[in-house]
Amino acid sequence: MTRMICLVRLLVGLGGVLLWLASGLASAASVDNLRLWAAPDHARLVFDLSSPARANVFSLDNPRRLVIDLDDSQLNASVDRLDLEGSAISTLRTGVRDGDGLRVVLELEREVEPRHFSLAPNDQYGHRLVVDLEYPGESAVEDPIDPIEAMIREQEIAADRARSEAVAQGRNPADISAAEVLGSDKPHPKRDIIIAIDAGHGGEDPGAIGPGGTREKDVVLEMAKRLARLVNAAEGFRAVMIRDGDYYIGLRQRTRIAREQKADFFVSIHADAFNSPRPNGSSVYALSQRGATSETAQWLAASENEADLIGGVDGSLSLDDKDEVLRGVLLDLTMTATLNDSLTIGGQVLDQLGRVNRLHKSRVEQAGFMVLKSPDIPSLLVETGFISNPEEERRLRDGAYQQKVVQALFGGIRGHFQRNPPPASLLAWQRDGNRSPEGNEYRIQPGDTLSEIAARHGVPVAQLKQANELNGDVIRVGQVLRIPRS
Ligand SMILES: [Zn+2]
Repeated sequence: MTRMICLVRLLVGLGGVLLWLASGLASAASVDNLRLWAAPDHARLVFDLSSPARANVFSLDNPRRLVIDLDDSQLNASVDRLDLEGSAISTLRTGVRDGDGLRVVLELEREVEPRHFSLAPNDQYGHRLVVDLEYPGESAVEDPIDPIEAMIREQEIAADRARSEAVAQGRNPADISAAEVLGSDKPHPKRDIIIAIDAGHGGEDPGAIGPGGTREKDVVLEMAKRLARLVNAAEGFRAVMIRDGDYYIGLRQRTRIAREQKADFFVSIHADAFNSPRPNGSSVYALSQRGATSETAQWLAASENEADLIGGVDGSLSLDDKDEVLRGVLLDLTMTATLNDSLTIGGQVLDQLGRVNRLHKSRVEQAGFMVLKSPDIPSLLVETGFISNPEEERRLRDGAYQQKVVQALFGGIRGHFQRNPPPASLLAWQRDGNRSPEGNEYRIQPGDTLSEIAARHGVPVAQLKQANELNGDVIRVGQVLRIPRS
């Protein structure tokens, strides 16, 4: 049965290729527009084409260049206004090649690994050729996690897993303590709790668009940045931005970054849309293991997951996903624990959100969102409001309102981690009362000054400096100061 379906698929696929070849041969393609998206670890150049075109991409040295040849194509757009800022491309030139071909030459400031693929038309775009310039050795995030911190987190995860296994085998979870795995003789790591913040969509994929032209990708990035500032200002927490600018990241790549950065929690920020202006309010989603809890959830998951088709990820990944879901998610015991955490945190977040906005759904909904499929990181997707509702669109653009929303988000997240801090975290250490005998400690936050910290703790500046053997007034973010008892 499956084999027959495969055969049918193959034939349909072949038919598609033939059609594609035929249409490619029949008429010359015109390049109607060029777009460039600059990310920390790659740049993406997108060609909008009137019909598919065969491309040949190769590198040249001295000076370092990337050549993109399009057969039987002509340029029908101005490339002068293309903003190359933030990318490895210093200049872009175009020319005619072999009479009827188009040649695009990129002069490069660094080594790149090129990759290209074609995308078929969808709701938003026609035929596209995507050329990705990967930067070898660059991280997708601005400020990657410290290797020692990563190791501590690994040990913690191992401890957690050992405990889950013990419970599954009917043993007492207390038999395997975190201290045992972390090493009770070593100083407490006092690590930060890492919150991965994912601004939905980006780059090629604008997300939903409001009646006033507001793009989901822009407002969610603004909220993500606000949330990151809030998280970083809180002692014992650190934010990792999954995307930090206007570029697209594949859905699976988003969870991969969160895992690489050893995130304790993942939140994906979105704005809802509907084909009528009426619906409004916020909703919070966790992953569903089986089918969506409501029709809306199912519909929404389908439309958010479609982002990869719009944002531009080679479509050949879907079967792989299914395997991963089966192996990594559905059959994994830890997933249940993770999902329970997601639902608990989701409840807290919803409770806080209900104080700043109407709730579209009064409980945490569950749906099969791709970005929520990390087996070991509690994850939520928050639809902050309906961008399709004119009143809510206006509020989503408003900085003061955005701030209220992210405060609600972090309120819920923080509340959970204060009650359930990971064993190696600063919060766990503080909860267990392991303060130094000489007094408290304080980790320096962005914008702090010595005199301010002294005033806040009711300690003279001189005494604070003496306790920390500071000569000048220079302090750095992240430095831990001992606060002497005055
Ligand atoms: Zn969205």
